[in-house]
Amino acid sequence: MLQLITILNQCHRFPGFVYRQARFSSDHKSIEIAVRPRKGAKAICARCHQPAPGYDQLAERRFEFIPFWGFLVFLLYSMRRVDCRGCQAVVVEEVPWADGKRTLTKAYMLFLARWARRLSWKETAEAFRTSWDKVFDAVEHVVTWGLEHRVLGQIDAIGVDEIQYAKGHKYLTLVYQIDLDVTRLLWVGKERTIESFQGFFTVIGEEIASKIVFVCSDMWEPYLKVIREKCSEALHILDRFHIVAKMNKALDDVRAGEARRMAQEGLAPVLKKSRWLLLKREENLKTEQRFRLRDLLRYNLRTVRAYLLKEAFQQLWDYDSPAWAGKFLDEWCRQVMRSRIEPMKKIARSLRQHRELILNYFRAQKLLSSGVVEGLNNKAKVTMRKSYGFRTFRALELALYHSLGKLPEPESTHEFF
Ligand SMILES: [Zn+2]
Repeated sequence: MLQLITILNQCHRFPGFVYRQARFSSDHKSIEIAVRPRKGAKAICARCHQPAPGYDQLAERRFEFIPFWGFLVFLLYSMRRVDCRGCQAVVVEEVPWADGKRTLTKAYMLFLARWARRLSWKETAEAFRTSWDKVFDAVEHVVTWGLEHRVLGQIDAIGVDEIQYAKGHKYLTLVYQIDLDVTRLLWVGKERTIESFQGFFTVIGEEIASKIVFVCSDMWEPYLKVIREKCSEALHILDRFHIVAKMNKALDDVRAGEARRMAQEGLAPVLKKSRWLLLKREENLKTEQRFRLRDLLRYNLRTVRAYLLKEAFQQLWDYDSPAWAGKFLDEWCRQVMRSRIEPMKKIARSLRQHRELILNYFRAQKLLSSGVVEGLNNKAKVTMRKSYGFRTFRALELALYHSLGKLPEPESTHEFF
């Protein structure tokens, strides 16, 4: 125990304080380490951060520290109060290992927060014999510090996307930086409204917003409106990934509708189990699935026609020139409008309406692969799924910043693993 004190005084020291004495708690489950002010060291006023004359001392408090050797560890300290001239008040002192309100030490919060990035919050709490709420506190502390200290710098490209959380169509708006050298989550907003997305621009300020060169988004009207307003100079690109996703959704609606109708009319269920055959790219199918797909394509079905239209559309992405891509797009839309397949026609109408934004993808010389946004969004979904405990917006927001924000971390006097 004496050696423990020596080690701590060497490796995790705080100016103005010393570790004095370590002992087992009466139930032998934890180690308690007494901390004392160094002789002659003045207490610091928590309000103005200046040294101030002492006033009195409060009862001893326990601060949870990083566990050693399977024992919980607490620092015991009696906070001093100072009679601060500057503040003209009696104020509790500031201590370097904790932030006053919380019972976890800063070192322990950083330690827990790092584990909470690899494990779920629940698993982290179990592994270190603490509670989910304390893991929450730890992540909140680290994320809050990170957001206050992050450098936004110049942002060339952003991608905005929505993600569904909880049941009953609750959405978040996520804004990513998708520069070639930096990809990170910049902002999380509640809902996917004009107001929520505007919140992002309030946070970054007009100067940074005015220098954004590329904006990537889906066809969600409120986002389009805010982008027109706030980034009028930027090249706005409709995300390839979202267009493909919409197309797949339309195809799936056609298939489901037709399968239902065929079942009602007592026809052979040729569309049964065809969903993934139709949605996957043909090159990703196994040989046996490929044969089944060929077989299916011989039928004269609306689903088959919709499938062929969807497949033909993929050719769009091979073009380099915006002009040729535009011609192809127009021709494709013309064909679809004659198809009498309503879900596909709806897509074609929407593509026509957003023609210029789609062609911006080619004008940007495909520099921005929408794969980046898709990748980040998948990570966000994994983060969300990883913990069953994110029942509130606040917890989910913290978890997303924590895992995708690439935020700076508070410095620790010693690097604990
Ligand atoms: Zn003061």
